[in-house]
Amino acid sequence: MADKITSRSQDYSQWYIDLVRSAKLADYSDVRGCMVIRPNGYAIWEKMQAALDAMFKDTGHVNAYFPLFIPESYIAREAEHIEGFAPECAVVTHGGGEELAEKLYVRPTSETIIWASYKKWIQSYRDLPILINQWANVVRWEMRTRLFLRTTEFLWQEGHTAHATKEEASEEVLRMISIYKKFAEEYMALPVIMGRKTDSEKFAGADETFCIEAMMQDGKALQAGTSHHLGQNFAKAFDCQFQTSAGELDFVWATSWGVSTRLIGALIMAHSDDRGLVLPPKLASRQVVVIPILRGDKTAVLEQADAIVCTLKKHGIPAFVDSSEQNSPGWKFAEYELQGIPLRIELGPRDIAGKKCVVARRDTLEKTELPLDDTFSMQVSEILNNIQQNLYDRALSFRNEKTIEVNSYEEFKTAVENGFVIAHWDGTDETESRIKEETKATIRVLPEEQEYLDRYKMMEPGICIYSGKPSARKVVFAKAY
Ligand code: AMP
Repeated sequence: MADKITSRSQDYSQWYIDLVRSAKLADYSDVRGCMVIRPNGYAIWEKMQAALDAMFKDTGHVNAYFPLFIPESYIAREAEHIEGFAPECAVVTHGGGEELAEKLYVRPTSETIIWASYKKWIQSYRDLPILINQWANVVRWEMRTRLFLRTTEFLWQEGHTAHATKEEASEEVLRMISIYKKFAEEYMALPVIMGRKTDSEKFAGADETFCIEAMMQDGKALQAGTSHHLGQNFAKAFDCQFQTSAGELDFVWATSWGVSTRLIGALIMAHSDDRGLVLPPKLASRQVVVIPILRGDKTAVLEQADAIVCTLKKHGIPAFVDSSEQNSPGWKFAEYELQGIPLRIELGPRDIAGKKCVVARRDTLEKTELPLDDTFSMQVSEILNNIQQNLYDRALSFRNEKTIEVNSYEEFKTAVENGFVIAHWDGTDETESRIKEETKATIRVLPEEQEYLDRYKMMEPGICIYSGKPSARKVVFAKAY
């Protein structure tokens, strides 16, 4: 039996670490800040990759691969970019036993090496747009790491697109952040707020950063994905000009966007409980486990268990039987709850006699009986859909309950300990950084979605809670991972 998991109410951070390790999702490694993603964790990443990759391709993107190492001269070309990333970079100084003539940076993100190629590929408007994505690993020398959420090396995808006009790039930035939102909500069952970052929180080298922000079960925020409008900054840094359809020369417009293995951490922190992982069915590589209760006529039970798995698989539902005899059914129940298998089917000799079985949902832990007849697969499929929806609804009500609007700094300081806070801000970096210093809370997002704007009357002018100066709109503050 796995080690006992600390309860969420006792110590949320410890609960998270216990869960990741007991459910065999990831492990620490001997390399500081780097983790080993174990098969259970990697299976979730593969499901995420498959769904996202299909969405990228549906919107005209193609995959490619660029080198892991970036020459120092490349990374230094865009001033803001190097300033933001240099302190976070691992740098190779030696190779083949000799000091390198030029240092190589292990990519923290690939704008510079990709734009060095785009310069060669783009001459005219006919070469545009370029819509490339790469699945890769990157390295950022993080000071405080946490399994999945923030690691030194992480897996991600990074899209890098090149366009003829600013407007086209703006459309792309919004298209991709909307895809991330759709993925978070439909696959991860995770409600997110889509909007813009403030200038101080935006990507180093971007004109504008859009993000999706999610709430974890301790009320903290997690940035789950970003999409950047890079303007002409990288094209200028790499002297990438093209001939427009009007015959003039202009710099190319750019975007970049990414999500990482952090999403696995988000998934865990948003839905799981004290028994272990709770996985939305759409991201579960195994949706149903059948546990035979091996009493009496074992053969009949095992045959029926296999038949159930066969039927479910035929209907596209990934299912498996655990018929091992060294562990008791009770042990198996706990183990698969820990691993987050969305649905458990219990099957004993009495069930077979009654042509039925017991199904137990991982999200609510409810048990019901299902007849083993022609409607069986359809009913299982309905329950799985229902679990997917329930996880989303539950997370959304939680976020709504934990979102508070305040009108004074006193109220703000208390509220921000418990969740998201909607408040007026005067729009200055100074106020933003003072609040951050005093409370550790940051402006997570300037929401852009109409529904969210309406719900909290975000665009009504008012008075900044900190400075008392006029404020054009409300923003979302929270403590974040
Ligand atoms: P960025 O390039 O900084 O916009 O980050 C792109 C994506 O990677 C965002 O969704 C971040 O949440 C995620 N990310 C950034 N740093 C880390 C890290 N150290 N570990 C895991 N994910 C990260």
